[in-house]
Amino acid sequence: MTVLTETVDTTARAIEAGLFTWPAEQPRLIGSRCKACGLVTFPSTSGCSRCTADDTEQYLLATTGELWTWTVQGFRPKSPPYEGPVDFTPYLVGYVALPGEVKVETLIVGVGLDDVKIGMPMELVIVPFHSSVTDDALVTFAFQPVSAARPAVFTTAANPSNTGA
Ligand SMILES: [Zn+2]
Repeated sequence: MTVLTETVDTTARAIEAGLFTWPAEQPRLIGSRCKACGLVTFPSTSGCSRCTADDTEQYLLATTGELWTWTVQGFRPKSPPYEGPVDFTPYLVGYVALPGEVKVETLIVGVGLDDVKIGMPMELVIVPFHSSVTDDALVTFAFQPVSAARPAVFTTAANPSNTGA
């Protein structure tokens, strides 16, 4: 596993618009919440998959949660749509459960196979993304263990309030 040691360029572009607030001092994932039944989704949607209402609002997700499950992406995903480096390094992916909100499918950084554990506390980080398609500086989101030795990446505050509520 690769431990990220790169510094994030705050002028780098988000890999996809609307996924997380960027640039931001305390980046947050951008989800949506159904005004009728309260279901929170990520990425955001305009319609509710539970009650079929079409009235949702932007909802900024919590930045900490627990690792719900994980696996190793051991081969380079099919491209397109994958735009990661041609020189592929296996990486961890999983779901982080944000309490009372939603499970987020995410890249997992700052921890290796020997130490990753279901249930471990995780926090949102913004990390560089090396594209095989563009030379532009890009960033994406990931989660890392709260207790991890921090890689030199832009890290969110530990306990921000949820202003999207
Ligand atoms: Zn709903």
